[in-house]
Amino acid sequence: MEKEAHIQLTKLTKNYKEGDKIRSVLDDLELHVQEGEMIVLLGRSGSGKSTMLNLVSGIDKPDSGEVIIGGTNLAELNEKDRTLFRRKNIGFVFQSFNLISTLTARENVLLPLKLKGNSDEASSEIVDHFLNEVGLGDRGDSYPDRLSGGEQQRVAIARALAHEPMLILADEPTGNLDFETGSTILDILNKLVRENGRTMIIATHDRDICKMADRVLELSGGKLHIAENNAEVAQQ
Ligand code: ADP
Ligand code: MG
Repeated sequence: MEKEAHIQLTKLTKNYKEGDKIRSVLDDLELHVQEGEMIVLLGRSGSGKSTMLNLVSGIDKPDSGEVIIGGTNLAELNEKDRTLFRRKNIGFVFQSFNLISTLTARENVLLPLKLKGNSDEASSEIVDHFLNEVGLGDRGDSYPDRLSGGEQQRVAIARALAHEPMLILADEPTGNLDFETGSTILDILNKLVRENGRTMIIATHDRDICKMADRVLELSGGKLHIAENNAEVAQQ
C-alpha cells in the first residue's frame, strides 16, 4: 500500500485581483510530499512560489482547494489554531533572514521553543546544540547586526529546526548571499534537514540547488511540472 502523503495539496487555487482583472497565480495545483522528502520548487520570479509556500504554512488562505499537513486540514482550523499549528509544526527560512533585531542569536533560536511552551531550562541544551551545528556556538550572545548575512542565515536555520517542526519551508534562502556563502548555507541546511529526518520544500530560482533534492518541481502557469531528470535540470 502506498504510504499516506505527509503533505497533500489538492486542487489548490489562488487568484489576485488587480483592478477589475483577475490574475491566476495557482490553478488547481496538486502535490503529495512524503515524510522526509526534500522538494526543490523552481520557478521564475513571479511564478507563485512564495504564494504557494504561504498557503502551505497557512499564513494565507487559498480561494479553493485543500492543504493537509500530517493529517491536519488547515481549512478546518480557525485563525488562532492555524497560528498555533504553524508555530509548532513549521520552521521557516527566508531570503532576508528575518531575525528579530532586538534579540541575540541565542534568543532568536530559543523563541520558537518558548512559543511552543517548552521551559527555558529544557530548551537551553537544544539551542546550544543547534548553534553548534551551524558553526556559531561562540556567537550566541551576538545581535543580528553584528553578524554577516551568511551567519544570520545560519542562525535562521538553527531557529527553523530547533523546535522539531515536521516541515521546513525555505523561500529563496540563498537569494541575498554570494555564491560561496549560499553554497555553505545549502550544505548546512541539507545536512541538518536530513539528519533530523525533516520534510522540506525549498523555493528558488537557483538551479544549483537542485542537486540536493529528492524531487525537483517547476511552477509555471499556476501548475507544478515534474522535472523528470534532476541532474539534467541542475545542469541547465
Ligand atoms: P514568486 O515567489 O515565485 O516570485 P509570488 O508568489 O511572490 O511569486 O507572486 C506570484 C504573483 O502573484 C506575482 O504576479 C505577484 O505580483 C502576485 N502577488 C503576490 N502577492 C500578491 C498580493 N498580495 N496582491 C496581489 N498580487 C500579488
Ligand atoms: Mg518569492
